[in-house]
Amino acid sequence: MSTAERAPILLTPGPLTTSPRTRRAMMVDWGSWDSDFNALTADVCSRLLAIIHGEGTHTCVPLQGSGTFSVEAAVGTLVPRDGKVLVLINGAYGKRLAKICQVIGREFSTFETEEDVPTTAADVDRLLNADPSVTHVALIHCETSTGILNPLEEIAKVIEAHGKRLIIDAMSSFGALDIDARQVPFDALIAASGKCLEGVPGMGFVFARSSALAASAGNCHSLSMDLQDQHAYMAKTGQWRFTPPTHVVAALHEALTQYEEEGGLAARHERYANNCQTLLDEMAKLGFRSFLPAAIQAPIIVTFHAPKDARYTFTEFYGRVREKGYILYPGKLTQVETFRVGCIGQVDAQGMREAVAAIAESLREVEVFEI
Ligand SMILES: *Cc1c(COP(=O)(O)O)cnc(C)c1O
Repeated sequence: MSTAERAPILLTPGPLTTSPRTRRAMMVDWGSWDSDFNALTADVCSRLLAIIHGEGTHTCVPLQGSGTFSVEAAVGTLVPRDGKVLVLINGAYGKRLAKICQVIGREFSTFETEEDVPTTAADVDRLLNADPSVTHVALIHCETSTGILNPLEEIAKVIEAHGKRLIIDAMSSFGALDIDARQVPFDALIAASGKCLEGVPGMGFVFARSSALAASAGNCHSLSMDLQDQHAYMAKTGQWRFTPPTHVVAALHEALTQYEEEGGLAARHERYANNCQTLLDEMAKLGFRSFLPAAIQAPIIVTFHAPKDARYTFTEFYGRVREKGYILYPGKLTQVETFRVGCIGQVDAQGMREAVAAIAESLREVEVFEI
């Protein structure tokens, strides 16, 4: 198939390019009461839980909606109304988490570093010493607004040593970067169907520490976002409380089967790391500089400085790359002009090379020479 005939490859961090098998799994209608569908949900949840080795300690609670819905649900359900959240910020998703606390009325404080500076365990140690009223710390594992990786394991250990609870937004890392619940203590880890598992968007899920979830009845500000209630109902009936995203669940089930066939987390990580390295190498040949140093770059999404050439505009560039079959992602930084290229989804290193070739050709067409 020529690039003009096939649907464009999404080099975006969700929605992303899915496999034909995953898309075909949506060609069946499921009844929400049907025992086959309930079995499908239960199977998805237990396979998700196995990825983090959370059997016995954590409970996977699925929730309708985009990833943010699940972040909001986790904060609203697990942080008591008189709790206080310390939000660690180095990008837009950290800011969004603080906004959630503000909107749902949980007391919070923030600690913000530059977008190319990871939060450190020493920062968190100092902050928790300074404010004993903090009950929960919220961290974005891979901050998708740049692609920066925060040192989750070290931070989690410090939080545990202080006797505080950790909430992790692992939306863009779960499934590709190793997070082991037996090693990393946390009360909630949040991810979604349409990221590294390569399902379609439409549902999130929260791995909640089972004891914390059981103790959270009555915390939530919202009926539909109450994960304790969602779980209690599902445990009793096997069903979702409200209309489930049936096709999304079926697609995720099929995507998980392919994930396991590919070789699970290790293989997914290797493919994405390979995509990321190929992208960095090929873009460097064109003269592009990435925003983050390699040591803190997660293999999920890469931020590049925009060309300096006065003839460059993102809109024109985006449109020309799109005509060649690739969807790029705008930058999300306020200080410097950038654009982003995702490394995740049904794409391999050869696909990344072809994408960079499309980028090079697009720049030639608009006579942008100064990168
Ligand atoms: C994708 C993502 C989310 C969720 O965003 P939605 O638009 O609600 O799906 C949250 N946090 C991070 C780090 C993400 O990458």
